[in-house]
Amino acid sequence: MAIVLGRTIHLYGIGRQQFLANVAWVRHEVCHVKQYRQYGILWFLWLYLAEYRRHGYMQNRFEVAARAAEKEPGIVEGVEIV
Ligand SMILES: [Zn+2]
Repeated sequence: MAIVLGRTIHLYGIGRQQFLANVAWVRHEVCHVKQYRQYGILWFLWLYLAEYRRHGYMQNRFEVAARAAEKEPGIVEGVEIV
């Protein structure tokens, strides 16, 4: 499991190398990093929770966008994995 807070992807129950080997998953989480970047941490969390309450997990627009990003190689541009 991975949870993004600001520009950091926190991993639970999976190692860094295993996560990085899963290209689609990395793109998904990087999309969330960019969502934080776009809105700022607090505003993004507020919007995400509002979406979550209204639409649930799968249908909330930030998750829909992140799932679409799984097929977009360009999403990782401008992001450095350290
Ligand atoms: Zn997600």
